[in-house]
Amino acid sequence: SPTMKTTNSRPVVLCLSGHDPSGGAGLQADIEALIAQGCHAAPAVTALTVQDTVNVSDFRVLDREWVLAQAQAVIADLPVAAVKLGMLGSVEMVETVVEIMQSLPGVPLVCDPVLRAGGGGALGKDEVGYAMRERLLPVATIATPNLPEARILAELPEGTADQCAEKLLPFCRNLLITGGHGDESEVHNRLYTQDGGRHTYTCQRLPGSYHGSGCTLASTLAGRLALGEELTSAVRTALDYTWRTLRDAEQPGRGQYVPRRL
Ligand code: PLP
Repeated sequence: SPTMKTTNSRPVVLCLSGHDPSGGAGLQADIEALIAQGCHAAPAVTALTVQDTVNVSDFRVLDREWVLAQAQAVIADLPVAAVKLGMLGSVEMVETVVEIMQSLPGVPLVCDPVLRAGGGGALGKDEVGYAMRERLLPVATIATPNLPEARILAELPEGTADQCAEKLLPFCRNLLITGGHGDESEVHNRLYTQDGGRHTYTCQRLPGSYHGSGCTLASTLAGRLALGEELTSAVRTALDYTWRTLRDAEQPGRGQYVPRRL
């Protein structure tokens, strides 16, 4: 009989994200970031996008049945230690993910509420954001919106991170609002925890704009949770790793820089 290898497997992270053919964001970002953490990515496709490093021109959300079937195949076979959500693209896909999570009770869930591409193009209507807030945030371990996404989710177009958090915390356990989209010389990333804890992680702002930074952060965080790291420590590790991938980023095309994850 074949030799069984069961003891040395890396933790498995199920990724439900979109595909970005430029390779900067989406599932490729998830896979690379998870390999870098010593995890195994199980990449299930929620949507296809047409984009380059400048912006997104089109996207197509997969049929619900296809996403359910992918997730069920993974869950039936692999020991899923954490789940990472990226682009979902439709209200129906939000509901599909809620259904998938019902078969993974107690498994950490990192929700990156993706609504815009790095270049600003829409990857879902604002209704998708509201559905995430009402349906997904309550089952997530942590949500990782950037400030523009937090403003959409909170319906506070001019809100500060604290104001958005106040509005969103009733819906979710832990919230990390990233500050990379501002223009101050320092980036303030704010973590709001279940127990009322507040942590601000400040880092130096790097020049340029990046494609796939949010995906990198959320997948790394899911990987750290899959490895058993405690939440606030996992957030710090994920922010530090992501900052280094941006520091080392490359510009493979005419547009944004792509994080160097490996
Ligand atoms: N997911 C997909 C499939 C994308 O195409 C993008 C951006 O283009 C994102 C997520 C979000 O990218 P970022 O990490 O730059 O916020």
